[in-house]
Amino acid sequence: EQAATRRTQIAFVSEQDGFDANWQLSLLASLDAAIKREQIYLLYQPQRSFADGSLVGCEALVRWRHPERGVISPSQFIPQIERAGRLKPLTAHTLRLAARASRSFEREGLRISVNVSATMIADDDFPAFIEENVLASGGRPEAITIEVTETAKIPDLDRAANNLGKLQSRGFHIALDDFGTGEANLSLLVALPCDELKIDRSFVVLAQHSDRARMVIGALAQTTNRSGMRLVAEGIETEDDRVILSELGCEIGQGYFFGRPQPLVSVLEMLDQQAETPPEKLTLY
Ligand code: C2E
Ligand code: MG
Ligand code: MG
Ligand code: MG
Repeated sequence: EQAATRRTQIAFVSEQDGFDANWQLSLLASLDAAIKREQIYLLYQPQRSFADGSLVGCEALVRWRHPERGVISPSQFIPQIERAGRLKPLTAHTLRLAARASRSFEREGLRISVNVSATMIADDDFPAFIEENVLASGGRPEAITIEVTETAKIPDLDRAANNLGKLQSRGFHIALDDFGTGEANLSLLVALPCDELKIDRSFVVLAQHSDRARMVIGALAQTTNRSGMRLVAEGIETEDDRVILSELGCEIGQGYFFGRPQPLVSVLEMLDQQAETPPEKLTLY
């Protein structure tokens, strides 16, 4: 039976992700144990207001501390796990961790964003799956943003829209990740209920040189402001990035300039510091 399982798994692995097939198989085989042993954990990256640098939320980003290979980033294991059909247990785990963490942010009214692959969001049980895992860790929907990643892979837009609408009505916020990359972004914006758009770092980079890119970002900023949505610029790395995006009307940024992905305790320390020092006095820029 083990041999059969192994053959099925082999069908899902390939060398395209830059690792040999044996390595990928061993990752899949150790997923459950890694979750149990807390080798799969979250880092939290601050999201800050361009206006005064204050912390307005954070994004939870998964890491795998592998006993032999050290810390592995999501691009090195999410695709394999997804192809093997094992993304659900992993996502249940990240939802629970983020929901538990969100309890420390409640007093400040901040939200934590959790990445959820688009391949899952049209499933019949998707809204229940999300809500059950969040509630199981004592989290409140109002403290969680579901960040839909890999939006080009949404299998059924109508069902997806229906599911995301249900989650919204429960109090969750919905964000569309990496907006501006991949396929069908404008159709997504029309079809899906959402509270937040995250423009990908590739747009932030383009904004330095391209009038057209600046025009598009400016238009997105106007549209989102008018409709009460949040626009978050990803990958703010420099003071130049901050100035350009902020001048285009974007209000929130995330990136190395504002803080690396870091353990929860570090983000909580930042919050404490912010509570003591008015944001305009923080030396962020
Ligand atoms: P993403 O959701 O777009 O996350 C942003 C990525 O950009 C993160 O990489 C982050 O560390 C990186 N980043 C942050 N600031 C900067 C910056 O200033 N410059 C540059 N160059 N990069 C920056 P990470 O953590 O390796 O995550 C990569 C992707 O993996 C994520 O992209 C997301 O699509 C996926 N991912 C992460 N965590 C999860 C998860 O729990 N579940 C699922 N399904 N996907 C996840
Ligand atoms: Mg994301
Ligand atoms: Mg993103
Ligand atoms: Mg991105």
